[in-house]
Amino acid sequence: MKTVAVTKIGSLRDPDESTRGRVGLVDFPDQPLGPEDVRIRVAYAAICGSDPHLAEGFFGTDVPIGLGHEISGVIEELGERANRNGLQVGDRVAGNFLKFCGTCRPCQAGAQQFCEHIQDYNRPGMAETIVWHESQVYKLPDDVSLLKGCLLEPTSVAVRIADKTRVRVGDRVAVCGGGPIGQLALQVMKMYGATSLTMIEPIADRRDMALRHGAEHVIDPVAENQFERTDEITGGAGFDVVIDASGSTRAVKGLLDIAAKGGMVVYGAMYPHDFEMPLNLSDYLYLKELTLTGVFVSPYAFPRALQVLPHLDVDELTEAVFPLDRAEKAFEVHVSGAYPKVVIRCNEIPEETVTS
Ligand SMILES: [Zn+2]
Ligand SMILES: [Zn+2]
Repeated sequence: MKTVAVTKIGSLRDPDESTRGRVGLVDFPDQPLGPEDVRIRVAYAAICGSDPHLAEGFFGTDVPIGLGHEISGVIEELGERANRNGLQVGDRVAGNFLKFCGTCRPCQAGAQQFCEHIQDYNRPGMAETIVWHESQVYKLPDDVSLLKGCLLEPTSVAVRIADKTRVRVGDRVAVCGGGPIGQLALQVMKMYGATSLTMIEPIADRRDMALRHGAEHVIDPVAENQFERTDEITGGAGFDVVIDASGSTRAVKGLLDIAAKGGMVVYGAMYPHDFEMPLNLSDYLYLKELTLTGVFVSPYAFPRALQVLPHLDVDELTEAVFPLDRAEKAFEVHVSGAYPKVVIRCNEIPEETVTS
């Protein structure tokens, strides 16, 4: 079965071809279908900002490393007991690439993100088919296309970020980083009643995209002084909630200074293993009482992501689509930053079942 995989460890941005990482198509064995499993013919798999980190060996260096966790598709086959949520062959679905076992201590304590068996069903989805446990699979609403459906997983991350902000209606909110997660988080925070909603992003196209989808203000952190702009926007108060969706080691420290006293800073991205951010405990935790947190994965968020996805305007995230056999090119385009998101079409599946 054709699967997109990292075939050589290294940075995909390395200008030197001899050391640059590589992504290509690899033939993987078909995944077995257990009694509670669902085989999905994959329609679309989106490239995630985390995929190049996998190419750099973040989660291991044994190649090939199969890729793809933001997928949509159609159910092709069900195990004999995989019908407890009413799934049927032919259903249009998306879902969670992680299966939470429900049995281990963290799962039983309401912290599925720390499930001790979280990797059991984490399989590459940039492939012709994928097998998931039924608990990972969600039927798409009729008005969500398969193309939009591949954004369910990143939407779940935005929902989880919103959960962790503990935002209240009327809170002043800033989002740093206008990539897909930042754009989705911005729209979700708007739904939550965020005010002074601000996107901090150096790329003009991404600032403009944010302005089209609910941002009231934008800050260019390179050309502008973000502390002065924050004072202007918030009347000197700072932002009650600051979200980092950039993963930029240059950006993260300054976010502590634009947060309001008593504010919340959510580091909602993936950061380099060896990166340490200096943190003056007296200034930020004692005098300013900031709360800092992060997001690993998105437990308990998929049912709500499914509810909000039809209300999100995400067409601009699905404009660049490449067929499976051009995956290498798709990754080149992703790394170039020419599009906010790049999607791989794993099979030609007609959208005729979509009503709008
Ligand atoms: Zn992702
Ligand atoms: Zn568990």
